[in-house]
Amino acid sequence: MRKKNDSINIRALKFSYSLCPAYFRIKIFHAAANMVLPYFDIYMSAEIVNQLVGGRDLKGILRLIAITLAGNLFLSVLQNMTSHLSNIYHCKFSDAEQAYFNHKTLSLDYADLEEPAVRQLRRKIEESSWIDGHGMECLMNAFFELVSQLTNLILAVLFCLGMMIGIVRNGFQPVTAILLVVFLAANILSITSEKKITDILSVLWDEGSRQMMEENRISNEMQDYNMGKDIRIYGLADFYKRVDDNANRDHLAIYTRLRKKQFSAGSIILLFNFIKIGSLYLLVSISALGGAFGAGSVVKHVAAVTRLSNAIGAILFTLNVIRSNTPFVEDYMRYLDLPRKMYQGSLPIEKRAFCDDGDYDYKIEFKDVSFQYPGCKEYALRHLNIIFQIGEHLAVVGRNGSGKTTFIKLLCRLYDPTEGRILLNGIDISKYDYDEYMRVFTVVFQDYRLFAFRLSENVAAGLSMEETFCKKCLVEVGLQDKLRELPEGIHTYLYKNFDKNGVEISGGEAQKIALARALYKNAPFVILDEPTAALDPISEAQVYEHFHEIVGRKTAVYISHRLASCRFCDEIAVFDEGRIVERGTHEELLAAEGKYKELWDAQAGYYQSKPRESASSP
Ligand code: ADP
Repeated sequence: MRKKNDSINIRALKFSYSLCPAYFRIKIFHAAANMVLPYFDIYMSAEIVNQLVGGRDLKGILRLIAITLAGNLFLSVLQNMTSHLSNIYHCKFSDAEQAYFNHKTLSLDYADLEEPAVRQLRRKIEESSWIDGHGMECLMNAFFELVSQLTNLILAVLFCLGMMIGIVRNGFQPVTAILLVVFLAANILSITSEKKITDILSVLWDEGSRQMMEENRISNEMQDYNMGKDIRIYGLADFYKRVDDNANRDHLAIYTRLRKKQFSAGSIILLFNFIKIGSLYLLVSISALGGAFGAGSVVKHVAAVTRLSNAIGAILFTLNVIRSNTPFVEDYMRYLDLPRKMYQGSLPIEKRAFCDDGDYDYKIEFKDVSFQYPGCKEYALRHLNIIFQIGEHLAVVGRNGSGKTTFIKLLCRLYDPTEGRILLNGIDISKYDYDEYMRVFTVVFQDYRLFAFRLSENVAAGLSMEETFCKKCLVEVGLQDKLRELPEGIHTYLYKNFDKNGVEISGGEAQKIALARALYKNAPFVILDEPTAALDPISEAQVYEHFHEIVGRKTAVYISHRLASCRFCDEIAVFDEGRIVERGTHEELLAAEGKYKELWDAQAGYYQSKPRESASSP
């Protein structure tokens, strides 16, 4: 177990080193150099006192003072410079580490991104680092502290050797031996009690941190812009206040318990320290009286032994910190190690011009595809067989939960099928390079997101921005009036997150921008997955029909649970409980008197005050 922990920490340190080697080198040098100055001062003051007590030679004393000042100046400047450099490199290192972590999140398989266990793992890593300082930063700080304290230990041992040689040379007296034993015993007791106390405190500390994470989550919810409306409308402020008060009370109770334990434990350690210092002073003074070393060396030896004892305590404490931090480092490394099971294909997609005169010759086929979400027993899709004819406008309709979105997620390779295969021009889509495969599609999901960037950046979405085409797409979706109103035209920021002059947009405008983004991508395969679900049925039908005209010869898939929105399509596939239960044109399906007709009649009823007429528009 210990070996495993060591190897995790060593691996994590190697990984951190690889992110910014310069930071490590400077920080190690800084940690070691920091320890030299106090020893230099101790040594020089002992020499000056010895000179004062012994030779009383003014020239000699002045020489020593000059050396002390010069050495001090040199070491302080060195300390200052390495501190300055390590601060700068720390910033570089943190940025590199954050970028690596974010990139890992961005490159995760979508299935992992949605997976609750993965989300929890990421939240745990982030929260434990922000709230109680556990994780990689803690490991690094502990590592540098270890370097610092090991340097301290080595220098202290060298200084103590001088004292021990003096004592041994002078002959061991019984009282010296007794004082030495008392000193060592007090040291051992102090170190072991400190270790026990740290163990107890770390349990309480973890409890407190968990409580703080809880508080943090409550606080985030209270600040959440999206929840603000519901909190106010439903008068949830009192409820949240109560939950927050309870969490604060629990936290205070844990914190008080922690501090009480720390106080009583601290008092015991104080006692041991008292014995330690007392026996040390006696030991060194008696040895000096006996002629083991000069009077000036008393200060030097007391300081060196005290530092030696502190260094041992600090090393043990730091090792303990590393040990208790290991599970958090393990979490971090586990996250970085999450494999990419998908998106490994390398086959290029034949490059074609996706322009109006372009060739949209991409044929996609679902061959007996079934799918279960990770960790679910139920199948979301069963035995799906469908071919997308080039240039066809296909509607996918069905009740909520019938599998329409899942079907699109598989088509876009957000998930791989559990059974069966999806083929693009006869080749399994997993064989294609993922980025190239995605060039074939443009999708507007129901839960599409706009970013708090410029309007143009939202439309171009990472592609190079061609201003005229961007405006054309916005006009095509009906945003010409809005464009005229915007203070900086297409360069206006959406929302106020990054720019105080950013504009707030309505739900309908947001949908249009999302549609413009889909047009801008100019991919041969267009999918609308109910981005208009928030609109009333008539407006939705208008948007779909208008989009249908704009899309022209491209292959398109329209999804809706409202049948009337898609009646213009060449073919309609009706989904029910994860299966395609019917296919045909609107007229054919109505005539078939099956599921489609049943849904059509049911939906017609919602929009009519008159008795239902089967063929009227729902
Ligand atoms: P639709 O788009 O027709 O409303 P979905 O494709 O979203 O239906 O859902 C099909 C089924 O899969 C439903 O039973 C739904 O509960 C389930 N489902 C959807 N998303 C997930 C998910 N991320 N994890 C587990 N089950 C899911």
